[in-house]
Amino acid sequence: MVVLAVHGGAGGDGPWRGMTDADPQRVACMTALLESLGAQLAAGTLSATDAVTLAVEAMEDEALFNAGLGSVMDESGSVSMDASIMRGEDRAAGAVIGLTASTHPIRVARHLLEQGWPVVLAGPAADEFGAKNGVEQNEAEWFVTDLRRAQWTKWKEQRLRPGATDEEDALLDHDGEEDGWGTVGAVALDVHGNVAAATSTGGMTGKPMGRVGDTPIIGAGTWADERVAVSCTGVGEAFIRTVAAHSMAVHHRTMPLETAGDRVLDEVAPFGGRGGLIAVNTNGEVVMPFQTMLMYRGVYQNGAVEVGIGPSFIQPS
Ligand code: ASP
Repeated sequence: MVVLAVHGGAGGDGPWRGMTDADPQRVACMTALLESLGAQLAAGTLSATDAVTLAVEAMEDEALFNAGLGSVMDESGSVSMDASIMRGEDRAAGAVIGLTASTHPIRVARHLLEQGWPVVLAGPAADEFGAKNGVEQNEAEWFVTDLRRAQWTKWKEQRLRPGATDEEDALLDHDGEEDGWGTVGAVALDVHGNVAAATSTGGMTGKPMGRVGDTPIIGAGTWADERVAVSCTGVGEAFIRTVAAHSMAVHHRTMPLETAGDRVLDEVAPFGGRGGLIAVNTNGEVVMPFQTMLMYRGVYQNGAVEVGIGPSFIQPS
């Protein structure tokens, strides 16, 4: 049995309001990559680590997700991206922080994983490492889309409004926005019974310069070991303070995957963390809990693809 699950970010408050005009494009992206990579995973031509790398790359290429092209902008109006990847069987990991030039941050993290040491690289040196390993580089402007510029402008105007709170200074990329969702992640189980996890993000609109969320922190936003692989999305600070992805693995030693996922989100919530996660274990069980209005998500399992945004999966038309 093989499994590939992806998420494209969680967010929003209140009841699910239905799809936006941009959602079909996000759904199409997830469906296409799940069909193609899921089939290759099932055929045994992809490892779990390859599947999560390629899945996240495909979502980095989709401008409507907040990773790679179309990442959100920080307080200065620039894009900086974080990513991490972990292979369960030997706990090999790679993480990159504050990339500004690499088209595929997850591929840079993957090269680090393969190299074996160091596990984390930050800033221009991380982009240089990517370039040296053949990862395409771009000018800063290449990553910026009209949608993200509009979100940033709105954030800037609100922030300059007298009485704006600190909380409003760093908005989750999707809060209050119809079309701003989008940290991306993937977890997979391959034919050899190995699992892997990967996560990639532009962070949060208006984040302070140098701010690092949970996404590139092994154990917080991403985790994989000999039993389970986890990728998280949400208010990163709370996922860091609860070491959310690793906690999921620890809980799962003594409780079912579903209970462990719900437990982790319960633990994150008191720290201001709203979000979700996806996880797969070596038995082929998969969970995708979230405590926000929505979480873009999809899964390839038993040869079939299911994709959802709100509470239920989208019924094929
Ligand atoms: N976790 C990401 C961060 O804090 C944001 C997100 O998942 O929406 O940078």
